[in-house]
Amino acid sequence: MSLNVLRRYTLNPIQVGDFIEKKDMQGIIEYSADGNITKEGTFLTLNSFNTASEARDYLALTYTPNYESIFSLENQDQEFELKNPYHLQSPSRVWPAFGYHGGACEIILTNGVLKCTTLQKGKFIDGGVLDEFTQDNTKKNSFLEIYLNIILETVIPIIIIDMESNVIGRKIIKGLGIVRMWSEKEKNFSLSCAYKEEVESVRLKFWGTIWVDALKQMKRYILAKPIETEIDPLPYSYESLVNLLRKGQYNEEQELKEALKVIISELKEVSKSFSPNDPGLAKEISLKYPCKYFRCSEPGCTAMATTLSYPSPPYPPPMPFDSNWEMPPLKPYCKNHAHVFWIY
Ligand SMILES: [Zn+2]
Repeated sequence: MSLNVLRRYTLNPIQVGDFIEKKDMQGIIEYSADGNITKEGTFLTLNSFNTASEARDYLALTYTPNYESIFSLENQDQEFELKNPYHLQSPSRVWPAFGYHGGACEIILTNGVLKCTTLQKGKFIDGGVLDEFTQDNTKKNSFLEIYLNIILETVIPIIIIDMESNVIGRKIIKGLGIVRMWSEKEKNFSLSCAYKEEVESVRLKFWGTIWVDALKQMKRYILAKPIETEIDPLPYSYESLVNLLRKGQYNEEQELKEALKVIISELKEVSKSFSPNDPGLAKEISLKYPCKYFRCSEPGCTAMATTLSYPSPPYPPPMPFDSNWEMPPLKPYCKNHAHVFWIY
């Protein structure tokens, strides 16, 4: 695996030469170690997958991808910024969600654009399979996702005993739902909510899981069978449900909260006996894809790089008429060593 290659796995093709930018992201990450919120960004992975179902499982997608798009960082001609989604100083792994174990290495493009250098089409004979609850990219607003997030926000703290020791994060995924993650006593929990629009009703399904990452051993231990529940469909069309919610006229909120409390309580109950070494309860996932991160190229600096750009001065600015001048290779720099460079 080359350090300088990132990938995206999608249902629809990205053409060679096409650019992706931060607004292509269908999710909002409202959690980070430094308290910053990432509202826009495009997810990429440092991993390469052999099958579509492997990509789905490790990236916790709700479909098997048809295409693999490759972005070689050496071949980019603009400056861009890549970030660990949670602003941590260590590599981040995809949270389990929607019944999938996750575990791939993820990174997000938060500024600039990246040009697709290679497209692998037909690589996956098992691509193009949609889950029953799957992301609908045509959804115009994400009101329901945000509403579900608020509901979860009110329900999760009721169940969590020790709020102090917790890390709480969320991803809002447009046209699908939300994922909430928290940690307690070295165990991680995730609760995903997805909705599906039917003609005169909206279906809601929840998945809960518990996991422990043993990164040195490259293993994830996860509840062998996620806890899943689908509640009775809400008897409204998507539009009328959103209207009711907007006006504060949705009266069955308590039922929704109760259903969530049940699944969270179940999760808490199982977590008491959950242990990575229990083969009956835990399933071992190989994190066979090592996470490599860009370290700052400034001599002596070991910070994680957020920007890939040209070397910093002292560096002779190229003269526009010097035909022998060649673009220097892109190098990673951290926030402290990021710099302005010359534009002609
Ligand atoms: Zn640095």
